[in-house]
Amino acid sequence: MKQRDEFYEILKDPVSYGRKMKEQGRKIVGYFCSYTPEEIIYAAGAHPFRIFGTGENIHFADAHFQSYCCSLVRGALEGALAGNLDFLDGAVFPHTCDSIQRLSDIWRMNVKGPFHVDVVLPVKLDTDSARAYMIDVLKKFRNDLASHLHVEITDDKLKNAIGTFNAIRGSIKRLYELKAENPGIISGSDLYAVVKGSMMMDRDHILSILPVVIEELEKKKENATSSAGKRIVLAGGICNHPDIYRIIEEAGGVVVWDDFCTGSRYFEESIKDNADPITAIAGRYIERPVCPAKHAGIFTRGENLLKIIKEKDASGVVFFFLKFCDPHAFDYPYMKEFLDREGIPSMMLEVEDQLPSEGQLRTRFETFVEML
Ligand code: SF4
Ligand code: SF4
Repeated sequence: MKQRDEFYEILKDPVSYGRKMKEQGRKIVGYFCSYTPEEIIYAAGAHPFRIFGTGENIHFADAHFQSYCCSLVRGALEGALAGNLDFLDGAVFPHTCDSIQRLSDIWRMNVKGPFHVDVVLPVKLDTDSARAYMIDVLKKFRNDLASHLHVEITDDKLKNAIGTFNAIRGSIKRLYELKAENPGIISGSDLYAVVKGSMMMDRDHILSILPVVIEELEKKKENATSSAGKRIVLAGGICNHPDIYRIIEEAGGVVVWDDFCTGSRYFEESIKDNADPITAIAGRYIERPVCPAKHAGIFTRGENLLKIIKEKDASGVVFFFLKFCDPHAFDYPYMKEFLDREGIPSMMLEVEDQLPSEGQLRTRFETFVEML
């Protein structure tokens, strides 16, 4: 992949990328979760920049968070308190898991400077009132953001933003499909770098380079030989570990799809045409696959995972989530039971910002892959 270095550079040093954008006069709005309406931030002329954990030791954040909060929120707060996120003009906190809600409170009281917006989305998404409530919340966010950034967010700007994000999500989905059809044409780590990079890079730039990556893979697929790796789906919340794909591949597996908010939940469901763009954006949140911090029916998440496994012809699932992530930890027994009933093997891995030793991981994956 020709653009490989560009993606890896951003993943290695997102802070420098953010600061460079700021120097170019861009307004930058940080966010933490895929329930953040990036389209509205983009329509306001600002750049939505997703913040992940630091991967470094936590010093400042431990004074505010218990050590049993997930490393994503502790790492994000650490970055802010250490001054690494000084390029942000504001931060947006959607109402999802408890940890992000508490991060919002602590951020408001301790991180100086930038504006702070809570987007209090409904939790239950399968009720009659959820859609109307979601629309109201997004309208409020539109107004709050416009007043913080001193801009007007017109319907035309929103429609343009919807077109941009639909195109980006559609391109990432196409890359996933190409990988699922011909797993050898792009490594899991490279695909991960594209998806994660797309949440931080300038969206107009990413919109222009994704078709180039797709074209390259379409050409490669003509000479591709079928991979012998066992087809695996990853499931969980956030994946912050590119190495996991390489270790799975070295153990004889291949990741053909995922159910991550740094993966398929980010690109699934495009925003439908609607005269009112806010109603259209709200519609996507109601209809797209949910994470366990939201509710859309008792069996919805399990059924979605089964659908992925069947469609992608996968043999097993690796549940992968951050330690102390309550929504996914509480969800796991039910999801595992769902798979057990269908005879689909799975394993579970809980990690911190740092992965356990590679040898230990490889042995676990090799054992799992042999079982498939
Ligand atoms: S798992 Fe859900 S709540 Fe957590 S970051 Fe992803 S979308 Fe947000
Ligand atoms: S969903 Fe889990 S990993 Fe994501 S912020 Fe909440 S607790 Fe952390």
